[in-house]
Amino acid sequence: RDRVRETLAAVREREDNQLGVEAMDVLDAYGIPTPVGEVVDDPADARELAERIGGPVVMKIVSPDIVHKSDIGGVKVGVEPGDVADAYEDLVARARNYQPDARLLGVQVQELIDVDAGVETIVGSHRDPQFGPLVLFGLGGIFVEVLEDATFRLAPVAAADAREMTGEIDAAPLLRGARGRDPVDLDAVVDAIGRLSQLVADFPAIVELDVNPLVATPEGVQAVDLRLTVN
Ligand code: ADP
Ligand code: MG
Repeated sequence: RDRVRETLAAVREREDNQLGVEAMDVLDAYGIPTPVGEVVDDPADARELAERIGGPVVMKIVSPDIVHKSDIGGVKVGVEPGDVADAYEDLVARARNYQPDARLLGVQVQELIDVDAGVETIVGSHRDPQFGPLVLFGLGGIFVEVLEDATFRLAPVAAADAREMTGEIDAAPLLRGARGRDPVDLDAVVDAIGRLSQLVADFPAIVELDVNPLVATPEGVQAVDLRLTVN
C-alpha cells in the first residue's frame, strides 16, 4: 500500500491527475502480473534494457497527453534489440508530430507477450457518485469502445462474483477455448479482477482505472497496459 501511495503522490507532484504505464508498479504492488518493463528516457538506455529483457520487445510512448498510444502509432510490437534505438527516436517523432507540446516522460520497453495465444480482456473501474467504485470486466484491446462487451460489479468483488463476470460477457466462449484453442486460465482472471477491485476499494483517490488489455492465456494473465486517473 505504501508503494501505491508513493506512486499516486508522484502524479500529484507533477500537477496532473493522469497516470499511464509509468505506474505499472501499482499493479505489481497488488500482485497483478505485469510483463517485465521499464520507462527509459534515452535511446541507449532503451537498447540496453531490451538486451536485458532479451528481444524482441514492445515499445510504447509514455506521455500524460497521449491516452490512446496506438492511435498515433505510439506502440511498436516485436522490436529487435538492434532496432530499439531507432524505434525510440521514431516514437518521439510521432508524438511530437501529433502534439508538439506533448509532455513526454520517455518510452516504455516491455517484454513481448504472446497475445495470440490468449484473449485481450479489460478490467476497469470508475467511481460512481452514488454507488462507489464500479468494476468492469469485458473483452479488451484497442476496439473495446466499438465492441462494448462488458459486465459490472461494485468493488471489492468477491471471487464467486468475479467468476460469474467471466461467464457473463458475449465473448465468454473465447475464454473457455473456442475452435479447438486451449481455455484461458480463468482462476488467474478471477484473481486479477479481485485484486484490482481491492486496489480501487483501498484508494478512493483513484477515480478511474483501466487495465486494457489484461491478456489472458492458458498460462495466466498479464496486465500490459494501464491508465488511471486520481483526484
Ligand atoms: P494503447 O491502448 O494506449 O493503444 P497498449 O499498451 O494497450 O496501448 O497497446 C496496444 C495493443 O498493443 C494492445 O492491445 C496489444 O494488442 C498490443 N500490446 C501492447 N503491449 C504488448 C505486449 N507487451 N506484448 C504483446 N502485445 C502488446
Ligand atoms: Mg491499451
